[in-house]
Amino acid sequence: MGIFDKIKDSAKDMTGLGLNAQEQYDRAWAKGVLLNDFKSAAQNFTTAAEKFSKEGKSDMARRAMANAALYKLIGTGDRSGIPEAVKALGSIPEMEQIGTRQETIKTDPLVQELMAIMYEHQADSTSDPADRRTQYKKAYEIFIKMGRVQLPISEKLHAEGPVDKATNRAFYCDALSDYYAGRATVLVSPQEANNCFEGARQKFRQAGATDWATKTEDIIKDVKAKRHCWICGREMQGKDIFFRYYPAEIHEYHKSLLETLKQDAHMIDTPGSVTVCTACGSTIENQADLYATKRMEELKEWVTPILAKHWEAIEILDRRLRDVERAKHSH
Ligand SMILES: [Zn+2]
Repeated sequence: MGIFDKIKDSAKDMTGLGLNAQEQYDRAWAKGVLLNDFKSAAQNFTTAAEKFSKEGKSDMARRAMANAALYKLIGTGDRSGIPEAVKALGSIPEMEQIGTRQETIKTDPLVQELMAIMYEHQADSTSDPADRRTQYKKAYEIFIKMGRVQLPISEKLHAEGPVDKATNRAFYCDALSDYYAGRATVLVSPQEANNCFEGARQKFRQAGATDWATKTEDIIKDVKAKRHCWICGREMQGKDIFFRYYPAEIHEYHKSLLETLKQDAHMIDTPGSVTVCTACGSTIENQADLYATKRMEELKEWVTPILAKHWEAIEILDRRLRDVERAKHSH
């Protein structure tokens, strides 16, 4: 090889210009995937796909497109690119294992994983708990069918929760589905919501998601709690949902009174407070708010003309002062 060819080759290697399809494909691996530069990998795979297409190698073009979509997703972490990746990977039976060219694997498990991640993403994109419940259930159904296989894409995307085995992630998604089912039903039936949260807690433990399990346990404590309302006497379930602690003047006498009457002693189990149901509590709060607004309006009506008079007096004084100053300067 002459010196000129050598310079040309090294320029090709540095810039990637003038590469044929296969060279471009190799470059995507060498300068992209193997260096963990997934964005660069995606760009090179895209260019390689175009070149393979022009060379009439449609199989390789599809494989390059699949790799481009996959590494674009991994590189950007932008889950809105999942449908594109599903389509690209679904169009070929096999491709390289993620992160290495050494082994070829079937694309089907990757497509399954992508579909499940898509449902997880849809769940995360909505604020409606009932909708979240449905989307997480769909993700669960895919993961549980996948069994004990690894989840290379979730791992690369640094997904929250377990990413080691599809089974564990299935438990995790099922737990989230139960959790949001609880959130969706708590205002209709705290008892039913409690059952959902109990299911979620158990599955979070199974999945090894201890932070979520602890969070759910705290919610269960509140949802389970039952207290009578000091005002209307009804028993309510759900602390800070259907009853709250309100500041009140409570003495020993009240305790003995509740004992004598055989009533719920927990109504005054927190010093300086009583439990009041949210219906009674909100009546008082709303009425107090109404009175406060009314009083404020009255105050405004009373003070506005008084302030106006003061302003008038100040303006007169100001004018006189300026007259005096002008008179002083002219002398
Ligand atoms: Zn009440």
